[in-house]
Amino acid sequence: MKNLRIKNILFSKEDIESIIKKIADQISCDYNEQQIDALTVICVLKGAAVFASDLIRHIELSDIRLEFITASSYLNSDTSSGEVILNVADDLAVFGKNILIVEDIVDTGLTLNKIVKQFKAFNPNTIKVCTLFDKPDRRIADFTPDYVGCTIPDEFIVGYGLDYAEMYRNLPYVAVVGE
Ligand code: 5GP
Repeated sequence: MKNLRIKNILFSKEDIESIIKKIADQISCDYNEQQIDALTVICVLKGAAVFASDLIRHIELSDIRLEFITASSYLNSDTSSGEVILNVADDLAVFGKNILIVEDIVDTGLTLNKIVKQFKAFNPNTIKVCTLFDKPDRRIADFTPDYVGCTIPDEFIVGYGLDYAEMYRNLPYVAVVGE
């Protein structure tokens, strides 16, 4: 494990708040337009926990459920292992439901590609993906999220739920780490 330190702040607490309100407005507007008022938000732990909990408080739909799944590919480093390990509870029923998968960041796209494939097989009514950050320069899988808070360059970020070896999740801002 490398000894990484915080280099610079990329998004302040206020920046993040306004990004989240913007995505939540877009989500509320899209589902309202389609006359969908029930949404099952599936938060990908652990990184998206902070984002999802703020996001759902800004979405204006009458029936919002919150579920959690775990996915990991980084295994205590700043480079993906390439292998995605998913853990979905057996009683997570999505058949016929409108599901919104909420992720912290899309990098290679392998994680969300696998998650979406798995959930599509359960025949939800609609399936969309929302990510707070996107690093499209690093994409390997053919994957495009439906909602993106902010596109960022190829740098490793921490804070607001995102970790480096389980540290920094509690930062209220998002920062770049490096050697
Ligand atoms: P992907 O499968 O798209 O390569 O990776 C997605 C996962 O990798 C994210 O959910 C996140 O856990 C982790 N990840 C990718 N880029 C970063 C980053 O810049 N910082 C942190 N902390 N995690 C990242």
